[in-house]
Amino acid sequence: MNGLMMDDFQLSLKVLVERAERLSSASPVVSRRPDGSVRRTTMGECAGRARRLASGLAALGIEDGDRVATLLWNQTEHLELYFAIPLMGAVIHTLNPRLSADDLSYIAADAEDRVIVVDESLVQVLESIDYDFEQVIVVSDSGSLPAGAIEYESLIADCEPLSWPAIDERQAAAMCYTSGTTGRPKGVVYSHRALVLHSLVFALPDALGISSRDVILPAVPMFHVNGWNLPYTAALTGAKLVLPGPRLDPVSVLDLLEGEHVTFTAGVPTVWMSVLQAVDAEPDRWDLGSLAQVNLGGAAVPVSLIAGFERHGLAIIQGWGMTETSPLGTVSKLPAELETLDPREQYEYRARQGTPIPLIEIRARDDDGALIPWDDQTMGELEIRGPWVAAAYHRGTGADKFTDDGWFRTGDVVRINERGSMRICDRAKDLVKSGGEWISSVDLENELMAHGAVAEAAVIAIPDERWGERPLAAVVLRDGMQASPEELREHLGSGFAKWQLPERIEFVEAIPRTATGKFKKTALRERFVEQAA
Ligand code: ADP
Repeated sequence: MNGLMMDDFQLSLKVLVERAERLSSASPVVSRRPDGSVRRTTMGECAGRARRLASGLAALGIEDGDRVATLLWNQTEHLELYFAIPLMGAVIHTLNPRLSADDLSYIAADAEDRVIVVDESLVQVLESIDYDFEQVIVVSDSGSLPAGAIEYESLIADCEPLSWPAIDERQAAAMCYTSGTTGRPKGVVYSHRALVLHSLVFALPDALGISSRDVILPAVPMFHVNGWNLPYTAALTGAKLVLPGPRLDPVSVLDLLEGEHVTFTAGVPTVWMSVLQAVDAEPDRWDLGSLAQVNLGGAAVPVSLIAGFERHGLAIIQGWGMTETSPLGTVSKLPAELETLDPREQYEYRARQGTPIPLIEIRARDDDGALIPWDDQTMGELEIRGPWVAAAYHRGTGADKFTDDGWFRTGDVVRINERGSMRICDRAKDLVKSGGEWISSVDLENELMAHGAVAEAAVIAIPDERWGERPLAAVVLRDGMQASPEELREHLGSGFAKWQLPERIEFVEAIPRTATGKFKKTALRERFVEQAA
């Protein structure tokens, strides 16, 4: 017997955006321009302009399934494009301006982008891309445009609003490329259905808990995995949205958090390590009383960061995800029955990557392919499945990442406890294998960053004749603080066996960052491994 419900109701982004247009049209959208000036508009206004923008794109020949690239910061125009492109049936392809020109050229060609919309502050990046877009559209304050380009506002001004066509929920809505740290970047193609379901679950209280009362500041760029879906979640819930533009330095972020009464923000830990240092230095400068939640993910969140924010009354919630998982897969929240643990143990629990959010399933397998028990001891490679997890890459590349029985192989090595909460030991490629035993670089980094003099630490494997590999720690000290390698090794001594301790601790000015702002271990490897060779 079949159910008799409207199962052919399509879960498309049209439903989200039309809802925002009708029911939360007055929700504010605040956008800070690269020059620091602030613009204020509303969800309704953005949704209305998106209809005219879509007409303009259609007039340029954009049709169903065509890819439209963006090279923009977190700004209102990007939100309008997040609405317009998928709702007209095309595919928004967000480009990361911090990638190399070589990667950007490859990605644009692989996606076959037809048109690109670029902020005028990024025209230089555009000019470095070796690819012929059919049309360049520039968001410009100055009005000076490269030859042949169209100005964004004039494209909108000349057009009538489009009525959105019917959209099949399985249709592609967006594209984003993996960072390509191993091999060429691979294209992930998000369906409407995936993004709608992701936004819905994201907003659940036991996931990240977003409602119409929230003020969301995505401190994660909108070119990184759909801005972690925060723009669509804001449209779904009616929350106020604060778009910070390119400047994510601590003072700029803190000024906006305070000034706009932000309740929810999200980003990678490296950004928040600097924010914490700024708050520690001037604890009374900002009133962050509205801020209920800081969602960190994209890289491991050290216990010291959780404890550090807690000192200022701020709650960090860690999430884990990937480009291939739209991005959210797991969230780390303390189960009610563990609230009696002492604070340090609570922080340690929250520093785990957490449990799968509803509709997501996880498992992990060891080197022999056997499923690992959920005993928090055995390590295995994490596999994941669910409605917003990639089933394949664009053009069928990287087929070995997908199992025959329908799971995605993440490349992350984890332990899972009896509650189903996982903790990442490493990316498979970052694990240190010394004398046949694995050493977790994440655990070492966590403990190093718990030392009062350490601002940042990253651990890499360096080849070793006797042991195969040995850990090397690159450490950034806090301003005006000192610590010797011996002192740091002693600090690590209580939690680690002697053979797990890095004999090389190198003090560096800064740890190189990836295009998405995470620690770039490949650059450290190049520096120290080549030096050793
Ligand atoms: P990249 O980092 O390669 O640019 P992604 O954003 O897709 O691209 O990165 C996904 C990877 O980031 C995961 O496979 C995992 O290794 C790491 N990651 C994401 N969230 C966390 C987290 N909370 N803790 C530890 N690692 C994380």
